[in-house]
Amino acid sequence: MMAEPVELPSRLAILPFRNKVLLPGAIVRIRCTSPSSVKLVEQELWQREERGLIGVLPVRDSEAAAVGTLLSQAVGGDPGYGGSKSPTTSSGEQQKQDSKNHQEPIHWHNRGVAARALHLSRGVEKPSGRVTYIVVLEGLCRFSVQDLSARGTYHVARISRLDMTKAEMEQAEQDPDIIALSRQFKATAMELISVLEQKQKTVGRTKVLLETVPVHRLADIFVASFEISFEEQLSMLDSVDLKVRLSKATELVDRHLQSILVAEKITQKVEGQLSKSQKEYLLRQQMRAIKEELGDNDDDEDDVAALERKMQSAGMPPNIWKHAQRELRRLRKMQPQQPGYSSSRVYLELLADLPWQKVGEERELDLRAAKESLDSDHYGLTKVKQRIIEYLAVRKLKPDARGPVLCFVGPPGVGKTSLASSIASALGRKFIRISLGGVKDEADIRGHRRTYIGSMPGRLIDGLKRVGVCNPVMLLDEIDKTGSDVRGDPASALLEVLDPEQNKSFNDHYLNVPFDLSKVIFVATANRVQPIPPPLLDRMEVIELPGYTPEEKLKISTKHLIPRVLDQHGLSTEFLKIPEGMVKLIIQRYTREAGVRNLERNLASLARAAAVRVAEQERFSPAIQLSKGIQPMAASTTALLDTRLAGAGSGSSPSNGEVEMEVIPMDVSGQEISNFDGGSPIVVDETMLEKVLGPPRYDDNEAAERVATPGVSVGLVWTNFGGEVQFVEATTMVGKGELHLTGQLGDVIKESAQIALTWVRARASELEISSTSDKSLLESRDIHIHFPAGAVPKDGPSAGVTLVTSLVSLFSKKKVRADTAMTGEMTLRGLVLPVGGIKDKVLAAHRYGIKRVILPERNLKDLAEVPSNILSGLEGAVWES
Ligand code: ADP
Repeated sequence: MMAEPVELPSRLAILPFRNKVLLPGAIVRIRCTSPSSVKLVEQELWQREERGLIGVLPVRDSEAAAVGTLLSQAVGGDPGYGGSKSPTTSSGEQQKQDSKNHQEPIHWHNRGVAARALHLSRGVEKPSGRVTYIVVLEGLCRFSVQDLSARGTYHVARISRLDMTKAEMEQAEQDPDIIALSRQFKATAMELISVLEQKQKTVGRTKVLLETVPVHRLADIFVASFEISFEEQLSMLDSVDLKVRLSKATELVDRHLQSILVAEKITQKVEGQLSKSQKEYLLRQQMRAIKEELGDNDDDEDDVAALERKMQSAGMPPNIWKHAQRELRRLRKMQPQQPGYSSSRVYLELLADLPWQKVGEERELDLRAAKESLDSDHYGLTKVKQRIIEYLAVRKLKPDARGPVLCFVGPPGVGKTSLASSIASALGRKFIRISLGGVKDEADIRGHRRTYIGSMPGRLIDGLKRVGVCNPVMLLDEIDKTGSDVRGDPASALLEVLDPEQNKSFNDHYLNVPFDLSKVIFVATANRVQPIPPPLLDRMEVIELPGYTPEEKLKISTKHLIPRVLDQHGLSTEFLKIPEGMVKLIIQRYTREAGVRNLERNLASLARAAAVRVAEQERFSPAIQLSKGIQPMAASTTALLDTRLAGAGSGSSPSNGEVEMEVIPMDVSGQEISNFDGGSPIVVDETMLEKVLGPPRYDDNEAAERVATPGVSVGLVWTNFGGEVQFVEATTMVGKGELHLTGQLGDVIKESAQIALTWVRARASELEISSTSDKSLLESRDIHIHFPAGAVPKDGPSAGVTLVTSLVSLFSKKKVRADTAMTGEMTLRGLVLPVGGIKDKVLAAHRYGIKRVILPERNLKDLAEVPSNILSGLEGAVWES
């Protein structure tokens, strides 16, 4: 429709546009509020059935600055007012903006644009009741004003058309100049469009215009679409000549294009100057968008958020919380595939898991109840229990007293661990056991620095993480088994742990922030006191647990071990009975230990065997009632029964996978068990003992059998498992007088052997073991001494007297008494020196059924520690020194 030139009437009502130009092809929306413009719209547009055209004429304020806005354009209706510079303003009128704004000079432009209303709407302002119109106008074509006159409140102009007719236009389009100019304009316009297209996607319509609309109209439309100055708008309006208009439009479009390009460059530059963090933010946003696109869901993000929440609730001290946040920020910047990601995560998880503040509820300590529970859990140990009660009492009076660390010392299985856990339950605290056995590396206690691959926190921090409270009872198990070597000194780290001055800020290398250990109650265990470094020992109060006599073991078995073992295997005395006699046999023949660990193990073996039988019984008794067509449940049973059925070849064959059952008496080992018959309990007897535990490992006659030949003597030694009986065997053969030693011996024990041999040789005649004829016995013969149980390392000086005894027995060809065991260090001159571990050694002798023990005289005082019932069964003798 724009292509068709419109028919213009000779007169048009004139709507003034202040400092603004409506170009042909442009569309504007205006609000008419002034009385004159409202009147104009009402009379010329609103009330007409067929809407006519109106003329839009720019007016210019005499002052340079534009006043008011287009929408509130007011037109004064005072025709003969003042003159006009414009020669074509026939009546030379001036307009007032409003009656109040008196005498403001207004200059009418002499050219305008005819416009039609595309849309009209009428409104009534609320309080005043004033009518307003909103009009959408489309500019159509240029005209020039011949004559301007007032009609009521608005103006009417006599006009003449300026734009070419269709015929003229067609002719003009043939003009080579115009063709060239059009081409140039279109090229520039196209360029503008493509630049705009890069910025936004909505210029598609403009492109279509470019192809369909005649170029002289395009020029107006394009120029109208961007903001240019009033003067430029006017000059565009005045460009009636097509060539002028095209070159003017080309110039304007090009200028607009350039300004866009420059603006773009500037934005790019500004973007380049964005701070690093802003850039990072933008990139991260983009990355997130990309991830979403890829379907890389936000699990990790959520994960990290969850981690942060966990960290927040971990109750870290402020400085550590800061440190953790720093680390978290680092994690956030990392990709899960990135090298440090998982280690950083694991680290943060640890920080979040550690009980920084979390304390287990400590119940009010009831000493009576504590004593009762200690008594009910442990047989005997009166002194030890008494000491524990004292310890607890002090804690009750002074909860934060820095009492010594209790250290239970004794062979395995004497109840050290279970006593420590009783302390925890008496205090109502959580219990955690940290095993230090074999810890040689300081890093085991203090952790590795995180720079190491696979670094971990030390055992203490790890234990605290597991126990989840910062005030547990922590058992440092086997504290004597930590050794120091090139990898640092675990003992010194432990020293820091146990030092109340230092453990407030324990520094784990992995954790790298201090952790407060001061709320932890430490308890330690050790097999022996000697290996504990003195500074460490200094912090601890040693409580010795010597090991049990067979009688005590029997009591412990019946009162504690058997009920517990039965319970653990889902049995009761209804199913299994272990008579006292059998327990005694287990103690004597199957276990020769200071504690009760193996005893407990053996009892458990019996319980397991019984449990299998009970289960079998339950499995097979119902089978008696099973009839045709019922499938056995357990697969193994099916297989078993299948083969049995096949072998028996009895009855009908199984049909369609169903198994027909027959009762087959059987037991696991295929042997009949004499005392097993359904309902009554299994009673352990000697046969069952042998079947389950194997042949006895020890027997009472062992010592007698082994010392049956001269050259064998019985010693008492000290090992990590408490006291032990150690046989020493010596023999002699033709040789060059050399001494051979076997049995995994340490340097000290080898030297003892040398000393013993030298001493015996020196006293040969005195001892009446070498008559003159027999001299060669000592000089031309090699001597071999062996310590049986060759796989067990042995060392220490206390075998001195035993070695001498063995050699004398060998040379004198006299047997050693089987019921006698001995211990004592020997000097070259024959002095017997005192040795350690007397109590344990005596207990060991007692276990072996040895009746006489020979000790260094100076060790006599140690016998006070040996339980009197054992002492009374022994015949003592001393080495005089
Ligand atoms: P340790 O730590 O000294 O090696 P444990 O504390 O592990 O020994 O004890 C081994 C087993 O023997 C545990 O089941 C424990 O309850 C039991 N036990 C040890 N001594 C006694 C005792 N006096 N009364 C009851 N049970 C005991």
